[in-house]
Amino acid sequence: MNVHSAPKEALAGILGPEAVIDGAAGRWAVEGLTPAAVVCPRSMEEAACVLRWACEENIGVVPQGGGTLIHAGYAPDRDFIVISLGLMNRLVNYQPADMTITLEAGMTLAALQSILAEKGQFLPVDPPCPRQATLGGLIATASSGPSRYGYGTLRDMLLGIRTAMPDGSIVKGGGRVVKNVAGYDTPKLFTGSWGTLGVIGEITFKVRPLPSATATALWGFEHPDQAEPLVAALIDSDLLPAFLELTSASLLQDALPDSLSNAPFILSAGFDGNREAVAWQLEHAGGIVQGKGMAAPVVLRGEAEKGCRAALSESIAVGGAALFCKASLLSSQVTAFCERAGKAARELSLPVAVACHAGSGIVHLRLADGPDNVAIAWLERIGEAAQAAGGNLVVLKGSPAVKRAVPVWGRPTGDRDLMKRVKAKLDPKGILNPGRYVG
Ligand SMILES: Cc1cc2nc3c(=O)[nH]c(=O)nc-3n(C[C@H](O)[C@H](O)[C@H](O)COP(=O)(O)OP(=O)(O)OC[C@H]3O[C@@H](n4cnc5c(N)ncnc54)[C@H](O)[C@@H]3O)c2cc1C
Repeated sequence: MNVHSAPKEALAGILGPEAVIDGAAGRWAVEGLTPAAVVCPRSMEEAACVLRWACEENIGVVPQGGGTLIHAGYAPDRDFIVISLGLMNRLVNYQPADMTITLEAGMTLAALQSILAEKGQFLPVDPPCPRQATLGGLIATASSGPSRYGYGTLRDMLLGIRTAMPDGSIVKGGGRVVKNVAGYDTPKLFTGSWGTLGVIGEITFKVRPLPSATATALWGFEHPDQAEPLVAALIDSDLLPAFLELTSASLLQDALPDSLSNAPFILSAGFDGNREAVAWQLEHAGGIVQGKGMAAPVVLRGEAEKGCRAALSESIAVGGAALFCKASLLSSQVTAFCERAGKAARELSLPVAVACHAGSGIVHLRLADGPDNVAIAWLERIGEAAQAAGGNLVVLKGSPAVKRAVPVWGRPTGDRDLMKRVKAKLDPKGILNPGRYVG
């Protein structure tokens, strides 16, 4: 791949040499490819200038936050630079009384939560690795964690967004109040766009008061489908769990009480609110369990509970997995799908672990290790199983051989053509994350 002449010098001319880093340093590689340069804008305006230059030069641009999911997708299909949002990490505006906060996209989730905690508030999302994950990356990947079941996803908490566009313009969508003006909800357009439509620079969220009490109920099971009646009963009940997770115990080891250390699968339900509300929910859950003739849950509170909730968030981390995929299904299909995926893995002697948002129909599957050809055979089988369960399967991490063999972003959906037209309109030269996403 021939690198454009002197991008570093050109970018240093635009933003100053201190804002440009040599892309050759390994940590900036994207799917094994080295960027021509890495540039760190300090403002939306600087980011927009870089995009305008890249558009004129027709050089690819990979936006990067914490780089924790930068491996997702295909390799860039042309020369590219990386735009790091690392220096755009400031607080812009915070109105605790209105429960709204505006920040720059390079701020990490952990930094945001500590600002909010001082006022007894929080952003109710709990993806893994909050110290690395940036808010821009979270929005771009529509990431969430276990608590999406009770609190909704980032999409629902997003009030406003400012984005630098490939033509060098800056667009502002939404604001500091819940959308009440006519027109498309553009902030949601950029949510889950994986850095292909614009560089998110500033974000406004609606935040919530921290719950005054929490508790987590745990049940152990030999097989995923044994948990199905309880999952269905909890979903159908009057309870409002913050999360309903079904997880391979191997992913939670250190956080589990001894009484559950022999169970291969753990169902966990989190209850948030004030003390009375949490007590009522636990009692009601106990009644449901009794009605099903199942064992009473192990209830965690305090530090033990904190450790368990953190482990549940980390259980969906890609981390060092050789292969990591995510199935989106009808929630009623989760346990049956886990059974099929587990059976296929055992038949192929593959060590697979699952972490499911059981209430939301999402199953994360991680393969610690295994030869590519066997992994591909397994992926093809669970791809069919996901389709049969009315869903889709995406591969968030895999070797180049795996990514050549299976559709990384899942099977085409009916709106692919519309997506291509939106992309062509907003990024006519296709410079943003070129060739990395669907279509
Ligand atoms: C299933 C799952 C697994 C996870 N596994 C891990 C893990 O193993 N380790 C970990 O640390 N975190 C993990 N996370 C959390 C993850 O860090 C965040 O959820 C987030 O998606 C990535 O944030 P980031 O800043 O690192 O983004 P990056 O990895 O830097 O970027 C992710 C994608 O978003 C785009 N992007 C990033 N910033 C912007 C922006 N400002 N504007 C436009 N596009 C942008 C990039 O181009 C890229 O396509 C996981 C999350 C989920 C949901």
